[in-house]
Amino acid sequence: MPRRADALGRPADATPALAPALHDAVTLRLERAGQRRTPARTAVCAVLAGAGRPLTIPEILDLDPDLAQSSVYRNLVVLEQAGIVHRIVTNAEFARFELTEDLTGHHHHHLICTRCGAVEDAPAVDAVEQAVHRAIAEVERAAGFKTTGHRIDLVGLCRVCGEP
Ligand SMILES: [Zn+2]
Ligand SMILES: [Zn+2]
Repeated sequence: MPRRADALGRPADATPALAPALHDAVTLRLERAGQRRTPARTAVCAVLAGAGRPLTIPEILDLDPDLAQSSVYRNLVVLEQAGIVHRIVTNAEFARFELTEDLTGHHHHHLICTRCGAVEDAPAVDAVEQAVHRAIAEVERAAGFKTTGHRIDLVGLCRVCGEP
């Protein structure tokens, strides 16, 4: 039986590959956290890098059937502690995971559906970022707070769940 292709379109039995710069950054962060880079940890990162949206553990297992459920869970904990993976908590059954923004350099916001639990990435377009930064500057002045970044999760109903 032919195996499914992974998120990057490679056959699922191909060794998951990370872009070289990402590979080096992941190795460095694991070392700093006192952890080793293992094939399973690299594979989890490769699945997340190829997805383009935050994934649940069942989705990660679907995209790389060579991964074992128990090790994916443990490896996500390690990757999160090493600053490689960001966990997005919703009120759905499963948390979702993505590579951290400072690792990928890809700043974006999230659209979280409170009914079906879907989470989509929303591009941080210039007009939105400029408006956000103006609002942040006011909060900083009022609160005496020095901001180093922001995370925006928009919560509501997705296109499917919001249909009348
Ligand atoms: Zn995201
Ligand atoms: Zn933003």
